[in-house]
Amino acid sequence: MASPAADAAEDLRAIALEISTCTECRLSEGRTNAVPGEGAPDADVMFIGEGPGFYEDQQGRPFVGAAGKFLDELLATIGLERKDVYITNTVKCRPPDNRDPRDDELDTCESLYLRRQLQLVNPTLLVTLGRFSLTRLFPGQAISRARGQLLYKDGLAVYPVYHPAAALHQQRLRDVIIDDFRNIPTVLETARRRLTGAVADQQDGYGSDETDSNESSGEQLSLL
Ligand code: SF4
Repeated sequence: MASPAADAAEDLRAIALEISTCTECRLSEGRTNAVPGEGAPDADVMFIGEGPGFYEDQQGRPFVGAAGKFLDELLATIGLERKDVYITNTVKCRPPDNRDPRDDELDTCESLYLRRQLQLVNPTLLVTLGRFSLTRLFPGQAISRARGQLLYKDGLAVYPVYHPAAALHQQRLRDVIIDDFRNIPTVLETARRRLTGAVADQQDGYGSDETDSNESSGEQLSLL
């Protein structure tokens, strides 16, 4: 009998195949390759970025190019490699001229693919990279306020950080994202203990004195 991870891997491959020929939104029109995502099907940590850029579109893989190299470096600071985590984006096809994904594109891609990927990987910790993946979960939340905090929503532990591309050329953001990544092992352990019921039902702040009350806001989780 196949293991749950093997089953998840097979289902993720099937989703990737669907994505490769998807024409459900206008972003299919300009793509070279769709970028489904990649990584461990049973990853503890799942990363969700925004959308593919030029190099991702060319290669059909998430986070290649300079931002991807920086992400690899960030992962290495906490002893992780790509094969240890799962990485995908809110939309799987490159928006023309790298414009922001539109709401209908985000809604379509999330409901068709991202939601299923998230359910299959079922990570202990979801790390959102940049504002788009953050605001799918917490509408109206500013990345500058939410970054570096462990947030909870409907049983999902979410840790927002800046997008590596945004932090690449701004030293201040670069220092912040490096610090936020360094906290991931601690955040992951807190999320794990909470999942097993050992942590009180409350938010925990890391790298910031700011606190929010999203968990008790009653907002619906868009991704589930
Ligand atoms: S962005 Fe998502 S919904 Fe739109 S065409 Fe690509 S895979 Fe399909």
